[in-house]
Amino acid sequence: MSKDEICSKCGEEAVIYREYEGRGLCKEHFTIDISKKVKKTIRKDSLVESGDTVAVGLSGGKDSAVMLEKLVEIFGERPDIEIIGVSVHEGIDEYRDESISAAQKLCDELGVKLEVGRYSDYYDLKMDDVAGAGELGNCTYCGIMRRDLLNKLCREVDADKVAIGHNLDDEAQAIMMNHLKGDMKRLARIGARTDAVEHEKFVPRIKPLIDVMEKEIALYSRLHDLGVIDRCPHVQEGTMRPMVKSFLNKLESQMPGTKHSIVSQGRRLSDIVEEEIEFDEENELRECEECGEPCSSDICRKCELMEDIKKAADRSKEHSYTKQ
Ligand SMILES: [Zn+2]
Ligand SMILES: [Zn+2]
Repeated sequence: MSKDEICSKCGEEAVIYREYEGRGLCKEHFTIDISKKVKKTIRKDSLVESGDTVAVGLSGGKDSAVMLEKLVEIFGERPDIEIIGVSVHEGIDEYRDESISAAQKLCDELGVKLEVGRYSDYYDLKMDDVAGAGELGNCTYCGIMRRDLLNKLCREVDADKVAIGHNLDDEAQAIMMNHLKGDMKRLARIGARTDAVEHEKFVPRIKPLIDVMEKEIALYSRLHDLGVIDRCPHVQEGTMRPMVKSFLNKLESQMPGTKHSIVSQGRRLSDIVEEEIEFDEENELRECEECGEPCSSDICRKCELMEDIKKAADRSKEHSYTKQ
């Protein structure tokens, strides 16, 4: 076997060769290393503290499944820390029924309670009924509603924090997209812990997987049989993200370590931006006049977009009636 094919720790057969570190790891040492990475991220930014109730956003996909498994491994025995699963059902029936039952199964195995919130109960709509109607692409509408509902669910379970399964690739993409859009303010959302948005109704977000590459999470989930395939039937991502994603993958393959550098620099920039924002009263959060959720203008973006897509869906229904 060549050097790439053996574990640098024990000489056993490697399951991965890390270009960015120039070493191979076997299943056991790869697993230990992922735990170490996640622990280090949590410790460095004090993501979880004594007394915390941590809600873990579960999609049924690999990222959130690996995240829950790691958090239970690290904090499961701690009496002073509570972990609760939260899932959002967007009304994408087959796809989401399946992924929520996967999330439920994982929670049962790990002894974690799962709380599910449905668009149909909170917003009186289902993505299956409105998909394709709005001009901005399904993921824009759905993403903003999902974020809003996740925050509501976290308040309902009295969570101090919500853990989301963003990995290193997601974070690198977000940083690049903020740069490309010239959006300095959004850089404040970068980092393992985002404290920039402060409001009593807003549950702070933590990202325990932010230092782990997407392909390593995929490998981990395969090796440990975690998470189901995560592909929404209504996906319409817009044009920028897929371009940025493929650009970053090309860079990484030519220059291993690029994604890590982008994320570490993004975090430093984010700290600077967060400090600036604290002195800027314009950014203080208010409550939406429609729904009472925290937002930065009179009506929140979610209420705006929800109206939009409901109207658009009604119009396209009328249109199809008149055609018949
Ligand atoms: Zn080994
Ligand atoms: Zn609102």
